[in-house]
Amino acid sequence: MKRLTDIGTIRRTLIKYDFNFSKGLGQNFLINPSVCPKMARMCGIEENTAVLEIGPGIGVLTCELAKKAKKVVAIEIDNRLIPVLNETLSDFDNVKIINDDIMKINLKNLFDSEFASMDVVVCANLPYYITSPVLMRLLETKLTLNSITVMVQKEVAQRICAGAGQKNSSSISVAINYYTKPEFLFCVKRGSFMPIPKVDSAVIKLIIRKTPVCKVLSEELFFKIIKSAFLQRRKTLINSLNHNLKLSKDILINAFENLNILLSSRAENLSIEQFASLSNFLYEHFKQINV
Ligand code: SAM
Repeated sequence: MKRLTDIGTIRRTLIKYDFNFSKGLGQNFLINPSVCPKMARMCGIEENTAVLEIGPGIGVLTCELAKKAKKVVAIEIDNRLIPVLNETLSDFDNVKIINDDIMKINLKNLFDSEFASMDVVVCANLPYYITSPVLMRLLETKLTLNSITVMVQKEVAQRICAGAGQKNSSSISVAINYYTKPEFLFCVKRGSFMPIPKVDSAVIKLIIRKTPVCKVLSEELFFKIIKSAFLQRRKTLINSLNHNLKLSKDILINAFENLNILLSSRAENLSIEQFASLSNFLYEHFKQINV
């Protein structure tokens, strides 16, 4: 089997298939040979584990996953890569490549048809232009997943792992911490890719919580509050929610005082539990308000 992180092999493969990188699809392929074996080792594969990979590229991570997992299903949007993958993965009979868009494919049907009664983990070097939407789609679909191990931009990884109540937290980091327990695994320098991206990367592992970290009466309201809270992060939370959710300041001040949250708090000051209490308080006391 050819070493797929070898620049010569990549160049020859790309020339053979007349392939040129698409910036729009986030195509930065790994050329550092140590990264994929490490991801495959750390993503939680056991004897009966199946892996969902997003964006296999020319198959460099797919190979390492296929050596360990019972089955690998890889979703690749770029149909020019399908013949390449058919060649580079021809040694494996436990890999299925699907030419589709991870943002459009019906994930529930995919899991039912490909992964029935198997433990499933996600492992991927994500295209950065859709990092947050992909993670939210995987989590909101409530799939039977054990964990999600992904390479993302280093700053995004730090934000996610910081959790709520931190200076660099965001609506995505709060939402991800609600569903999962994030772990920062390791950094990957920008020189590990071809072509070289503008930023460094990092691999994180999101371990799915069996039950969410706190009790939330209405997830819809909870996520609306979090999204609105971080829209203008410099504003006080009361002003943001008043402006974005059209909730009166009287209602908000009443809620903050009842919950002992400082009236001057900004979104980044609240813990995930405080967001949950705020959402639950508003839900219970003001069900009639249309947020
Ligand atoms: N896994 C390879 C590696 O590590 O070298 C490639 C990773 S590259 C950063 C991202 C890959 O995701 C590309 O192959 C790209 O074509 C694919 N991709 C981009 N958008 C996608 C989408 N919406 N659905 C599925 N694959 C996508």
